[in-house]
Amino acid sequence: MPLHDKNSNRDQLADDIYGSDDLAGSTPKFQFPNAELDSRHVYALVHDELMLDGNSRQNLATFCQTWAEPEVHKLMDECMDKNMIDKDEYPQTAEIESRCVNMLADLWNSPEAANTIGCSTTGSSEAAMLGGMAMKRAWEAKRKAAGLPYDKPNLITGPVQVCWHKFARYWDIELREVPMEHDRLIMTPEEVLKRCDENTIGVVPTLGVTFTCQYEPVKEISDALDQLQKTSGLDIRMHVDGASGGFLAPFCAPDLVWDFRLPRVKSINTSGHKFGLAPLGVGWIIWREEADLPEEEIFWVNYLGGNMRDIALNFSRPGGQVVCQYYNFLRLGFNGYRRIHGACYDTAKFISAEIEKLGLFDVLYDGDRATGIPALCWKMKKGIDPGFNLYELADRLRTRGWQVPAYSLPSNCQDTVIQRILVRHGVSRDLGSLLVEDIDRAIAHLKKHPHQTAITADDASGFHH
Ligand SMILES: *Cc1c(COP(=O)(O)O)cnc(C)c1O
Repeated sequence: MPLHDKNSNRDQLADDIYGSDDLAGSTPKFQFPNAELDSRHVYALVHDELMLDGNSRQNLATFCQTWAEPEVHKLMDECMDKNMIDKDEYPQTAEIESRCVNMLADLWNSPEAANTIGCSTTGSSEAAMLGGMAMKRAWEAKRKAAGLPYDKPNLITGPVQVCWHKFARYWDIELREVPMEHDRLIMTPEEVLKRCDENTIGVVPTLGVTFTCQYEPVKEISDALDQLQKTSGLDIRMHVDGASGGFLAPFCAPDLVWDFRLPRVKSINTSGHKFGLAPLGVGWIIWREEADLPEEEIFWVNYLGGNMRDIALNFSRPGGQVVCQYYNFLRLGFNGYRRIHGACYDTAKFISAEIEKLGLFDVLYDGDRATGIPALCWKMKKGIDPGFNLYELADRLRTRGWQVPAYSLPSNCQDTVIQRILVRHGVSRDLGSLLVEDIDRAIAHLKKHPHQTAITADDASGFHH
């Protein structure tokens, strides 16, 4: 095309994206593309394809943030080029990370919050891996010093998130997971004590169990382990999986003693991108005191300029999420977090009361701020068949865009199917009432057309982490 040909140039500049040759044909899906395409065309193509992902704000299965203030979007954009690992290149981002570590240590009542040790991670999974390794190393060091074998480590947990299964498998650790029973859905001190021995590297209670959203009794377990130490000499450390609860209990259940106020709690992980209200991609691990992190887990690198301490598993990692975490701490403070989460708890209680009124379901957890996270879950009442199961209800709700997962519980309660709603920042009371109306409509429809879809656990997508 000759450059002086104004008309055809203009044509091309002003052409409609969907009338272009790029979008009129089909683009490669399995082969590496040859040609370059126009950026506007490709943007439209990718943007449009993502519409099919559905609306994240209506995804009530996820614990992760789906709403952020405009300032957070702006900071994320400004931090696109910041690599968390380049602490010498981006010293201020590194400084911000370290302030967040100190603020969290303070929030969790570390005896010396200004001198504690910890770091940001990609999420709780990486943080759990680091906390788990520290427990293993500390136990090994003790066993070695006493001339005892250290080849059969075990870890005690309640019904845990998959990251602890991964930790146990990756590091060849026997996982002693306290199974659920119909009358007990979380770990208890008695069940923990039954499983402790000289090879136990630690006990991990969860503050906000994935399946039922409840807090496990950290203090009671710590007390029981104190007693065990008195009678048997076994000194077993604890790590709290506070993926959700670490950012909830300090604000909404201040009397609950679960954190570094308990000397036995040596480390805590949390997900910044869950109730920390940061964008996806940040978690935290904090040790109670510097001495609680074994030396072997700290790496010193000098090739970034300066001699830098490196604890995380990943090397390069985006800095924006950490910067936005800091923004949230300053922007919201204690009171802001308490208000936002408090509103979520109220909405969870409201939805829960409405679900109860329907008369078909037993609410297992109703969003009580002293005992769990802003969420609710329920199962079908025993011995009734209203013409649908919870998988079918979940499927029907999808026609209105809601994702309300139904799933079976882990052992020993695999025969129990429950349904769960997470109430996050941005799930307002009004949005909650619209959901309740849709649940009513869905049930009316399903009763009129009993078991038409006949969906079972095998058909259900089952995603609920
Ligand atoms: C979400 C969650 C995890 C995993 O956290 P990520 O931040 O997604 O890696 C671990 N434990 C519990 C209890 C969780 O809720």
